[in-house]
Amino acid sequence: MILTENDVYCGDLILVNKDHMYRRDGETPFERAGSELLSQRAAAALKLLLKATDSENDITVVSGFRSYQEQRELWESSLSENGRKFTEQYVARPLHSEHQTGLAVDVGLNIEDIDFIRPYFPDEGKCRAFRLNAPKFGFILRYPADKEHITRISHEPWHFRYVGVPHAEIMEQNGLTLEEYTEFLKAYSKSELIFGDFAVSYIKGERLPLEIPDAYSVSGNNVDGFVLSRRTK
Ligand SMILES: [Zn+2]
Repeated sequence: MILTENDVYCGDLILVNKDHMYRRDGETPFERAGSELLSQRAAAALKLLLKATDSENDITVVSGFRSYQEQRELWESSLSENGRKFTEQYVARPLHSEHQTGLAVDVGLNIEDIDFIRPYFPDEGKCRAFRLNAPKFGFILRYPADKEHITRISHEPWHFRYVGVPHAEIMEQNGLTLEEYTEFLKAYSKSELIFGDFAVSYIKGERLPLEIPDAYSVSGNNVDGFVLSRRTK
């Protein structure tokens, strides 16, 4: 495959946050996940995770893909209803929301009166099982309580982000947010990180276009380069 400049901004590992906006609005192929849409790989992985934790009836998909327009409306309605402080804590600005990528999902315990911005997702029972099993299926808890100074988003127990396999498990085992993982991988530009049956490495997005052997899966990091992974067995 041939990597070009545009490819830095797409793939399962793109970092979208206050500093790095999403540049590829509406380009991901989508699939239904409950009443919402997600990128195809994220939707398929979510189904498997819900099945593995026997929580298809207990956990509901509250919010998946949002268009730029929907994110803007959510930001503006939250500003007028909840005020600026709350909104900046829990709602991302348009173009800076992971929900625009189709790779983020808010899940909630299936109760009456679900809160759309902050769904109830207690760290017990089926919700806890979902969280603990998420990395095996490529999902990370994106905004943990002890990393608010890095993500600059308040703890959101309901917001999971698909980053794929093996990245979610590497992040989980090393206690890394996506911000930290993106930096962490830059040490692997000359050597590979071996994890189980996978080897992961980083290539800076320079001297493009660049040809990559087909054995690799590639994602842009939405910052400055690419994350490569290949199976070693
Ligand atoms: Zn969310």
